Amino acid sequence: MYRNQNCNHYKFVMKSQVEVVKRLAQFGVKPSLQRIAIMGYVMDNLVHPTVDTVFNGLSPAIPTLSKTTVYNTLKLLARQGAVLELNIDEKNVRYDANIFRHAHFRCKQCGSVHDVPVESVEVLTKKSAGDLQITESQLYYKGYCGKCKAAVAAEPSEPQAAKAGA
Ligand SMILES: [Zn+2]
Ligand SMILES: [Zn+2]
Repeated sequence: MYRNQNCNHYKFVMKSQVEVVKRLAQFGVKPSLQRIAIMGYVMDNLVHPTVDTVFNGLSPAIPTLSKTTVYNTLKLLARQGAVLELNIDEKNVRYDANIFRHAHFRCKQCGSVHDVPVESVEVLTKKSAGDLQITESQLYYKGYCGKCKAAVAAEPSEPQAAKAGA
């Protein structure tokens, strides 16, 4: 029997839409079409995209999408805990759909951000923090990625001030 396929206007959501809607519902976010698209994009592109990356990635498929909507939606998703907001990049906030505990590494040369699996991101326990109530923690490493390591070693781009040894 011929199976009539539903016309899918939201083909750019590569992740199954069910999975995206489930994530939104899990964190109490009402699933509008734009929110589904934005959440789907972040879930599909685990490169820690910025607002610009998400906007540029989605705007060809959704011409009505504004950068402000992307910005506000990502802020909302982060506030609700559906995505992680990373401040590892001093110029751009980055977003991560991988909400399981992991650390991040940022290449000082090309700016790419990589996931780093760690045993425990939270070194402080609730007990050791005393009076301080920890609501989030982020662990960042910086250095050079595999691609940039060799280039940097061969030709240092800027003279680094020599640190006085202890
Ligand atoms: Zn790099
Ligand atoms: Zn990550």
